[in-house]
Amino acid sequence: MGKRSAELFERARRVIPGGVNSPVRAFKSVGGEPLFIARGSGASLWDVDGKEYVDYVGSWGPLILGHGHPEVLEAILRAAADGTSFGAPTEREVVFAELLCRGVPSMAKVRLVSSGTEATMSALRAARGFTGRDKVVKIDGGYHGHADCLLVDAGSGVATLGIPGSAGVTEGTAKDTLVVAWNDLAAMQQVVERGNVAAVIVEPVCGNMGCVPPRPGYLEGLREVTARHGTVLIFDEVMTGFRVAWGGAQARYGIVPDMTCLGKIVGGGLPAAAYGGRAEIMACIAPDGPVYQAGTLSGNPLAVAAGQKTLEILQRPGTYEQLEATGARLGEGLREVARFYGVPFFGTRVGAMFTGFFTDGEVWDYAGAKRSDTRRFAAWFAGMLERGIYLAPSQFEAGFVSLAHGDRAIDRTLDAARAVMKTL
Ligand SMILES: *Cc1c(COP(=O)(O)O)cnc(C)c1O
Repeated sequence: MGKRSAELFERARRVIPGGVNSPVRAFKSVGGEPLFIARGSGASLWDVDGKEYVDYVGSWGPLILGHGHPEVLEAILRAAADGTSFGAPTEREVVFAELLCRGVPSMAKVRLVSSGTEATMSALRAARGFTGRDKVVKIDGGYHGHADCLLVDAGSGVATLGIPGSAGVTEGTAKDTLVVAWNDLAAMQQVVERGNVAAVIVEPVCGNMGCVPPRPGYLEGLREVTARHGTVLIFDEVMTGFRVAWGGAQARYGIVPDMTCLGKIVGGGLPAAAYGGRAEIMACIAPDGPVYQAGTLSGNPLAVAAGQKTLEILQRPGTYEQLEATGARLGEGLREVARFYGVPFFGTRVGAMFTGFFTDGEVWDYAGAKRSDTRRFAAWFAGMLERGIYLAPSQFEAGFVSLAHGDRAIDRTLDAARAVMKTL
């Protein structure tokens, strides 16, 4: 923790709750204080004290091209020169919506919003409007943004801070949210069969309890039981969309959900997100139907330009092969280092997202993730940070590699990992 970061944190805490504009940024669970970032370029970022880090947070998912990709910057500047917001339809939004629906063919129609939270909240409202039912089912440790009804047993910062849910959520709201364990198909079948379930919302690869993939057959089972009961299956692909494959986890695993939420990557580092799905469901959205949802900055020209350019670059040949190879080199490298030094470690990875859980057991759900030794994680995190490797400051967050992470960045990371694992 450099001097300038420390000074800024002290000032920040006087005027911003906890000194941060999103809770996990505060480094609370790992001890210590957050770095203040001055700039980023490619796979690196620099703090205000001038120290360079290899970045595996990537702004928590959006930066699949790395920081400051020149073509994305140019697209943003060009869009800005024509005006930053109109609150009226633009050609760019149409082209972008067409691109999203081509990329995620389970979406016949898509509505643009400004954050993942808005996308999931709006998708649930649409599912309830469409089915006329009240209940929603979510996964224990699943995170879908901070809408009231989704803050029950949530992952990400809620898990990191170890709070059971959130104050300020009414009992009435919480009672319509049912929670089951990830990868437990029998439990899911039971709650859906009890009836009145408007929607099941899942991250098709969990990322907010750390990265925990679906077991073989689990997503197929979800699809089958929801279809049989007329329950809307929502894939929250805010993290996985265009990360684990072109078209997201649904393309990778070959499952067709009823609705999809996108965010992070589709905004190219600016605030854009989206929700979409089957034509009959999307026909419920105002002004076509009775489910209201709106946004002053929805479809913002700068955010759409950044998202469009990012997706255009991702469509070039070899991008996902490169992400897979980089992810594999890092993931397998970390596992090998842990094995060599006898550190209990369960490494998970799907494409360009990964987690290392400090536990002997396998991790297939949130209960398994929680068996990790978070004190050991904190020591790992601090050691890596000291050596210039910037990991997410929590055991319960996924790490991300980008197209900008080359062999040198990975080598540097594995060298640091050897030095740190030796001491754990
Ligand atoms: C990040 C995330 C969200 C919330 O998106 P925001 O843009 O932070 O509101 C929702 N769902 C998943 C799966 C996420 O990873």
